[in-house]
Amino acid sequence: MPKATETVLEINLTALGTNYWYLKSKLKPNTNFLAVVKAYAYGSDSVEIAKELVKLGADYLAVAYVNEGVALRDAGIKTPIIVLHPQSVNFKTLIDRCLEPNLYSLKIFQEFIEIAKENKQSKYPVHLKFNTGLNRLGFLENDIDFISSKLKETTSIIVKSIFSHLAASEDETEKEFSISQIEAFKNISEKLFRNLDYKPMMHMCNTSGILNYPEAHFDLVRSGIGLYGFSNIPSEQKNFQPIATLKSVISQIHSIEKGETVGYNRAFKSEGILKTATIPIGHADGISRAYGNEKGWVTINGNKASIIGNVCMDMIMVNITNIDCQEGDEVIIFGEVENAEKHAEKINSISYELITAISQRVKRVVCRK
Ligand SMILES: *Cc1c(COP(=O)(O)O)cnc(C)c1O
Repeated sequence: MPKATETVLEINLTALGTNYWYLKSKLKPNTNFLAVVKAYAYGSDSVEIAKELVKLGADYLAVAYVNEGVALRDAGIKTPIIVLHPQSVNFKTLIDRCLEPNLYSLKIFQEFIEIAKENKQSKYPVHLKFNTGLNRLGFLENDIDFISSKLKETTSIIVKSIFSHLAASEDETEKEFSISQIEAFKNISEKLFRNLDYKPMMHMCNTSGILNYPEAHFDLVRSGIGLYGFSNIPSEQKNFQPIATLKSVISQIHSIEKGETVGYNRAFKSEGILKTATIPIGHADGISRAYGNEKGWVTINGNKASIIGNVCMDMIMVNITNIDCQEGDEVIIFGEVENAEKHAEKINSISYELITAISQRVKRVVCRK
């Protein structure tokens, strides 16, 4: 890649493939792979990433909301797509675009059956989510009888899968709880399947679930963060390669005298002579104000440059007093070496939050290396 000449998020499709094949190596040959591409494919580029994942062999895609699924259909993607958190107001669009809803409550379940019927659908594929302890979305075991009786009455929908979500799949200390979730899910599946004359797929594992609970891979696994290069498990991180590098450039260099201040509210006061570089990336691009005042730093020509003063909307100022650099030089905010997980740790955040926050204003550049 040429050096950055403006702020860009570089997305390495080769690394995506590496992560995909590593995750696949953990699965039995007949376990299906669902790639989670919600939130712009975790802040990268949902269309580019989805297309690559389809080429790699992903069986399913998932998004959170209907409009995210519509964007993939508009881009010509034909792979089945689960919408993990649909709202009934969007059900007509969902059906028009052949997206598959996760039905997670009695209310939304009944609403979807009605809309499928009104739209003359037969055996429309749906997915049922059961709550086994995360207490976020999902039916309870007690709902099975009602669900079963509704399913017997209708030909408008067919249950393609039932699933649940682990609350702490990355936490070694919560192993007992995770196992109890897996057991509860098996029990729920058995009960529901007794009332059906076909067998839906079962799935439960996210990325850390894939790594920690092979006994819970069932028919399908759902991976998001692992594809983008983070494992959540320190001993596993060496097997993953972050796909995104956030780069920028030095716009201007300033010499600051003792007693001068830098940035809004004069938050930084210089105790000596120093040099600063202004970089065209700010909180509107997803660099939280929490990184200001030397909590965060960027890399310039291999050296750490601390963010001084407050993070502005469109810029940060960094200390380059001891760094040999010039206006126009490349700046790395996070990437392969100082990855997004490590960068996020500086403000007690996590990779997920940092990468999904990179705003759409930042240009995406796809590469293979
Ligand atoms: C986001 C999400 C995933 C992906 O989780 P990762 O930890 O990123 O692998 C899987 N399942 C559901 C229901 C999700 O919402």
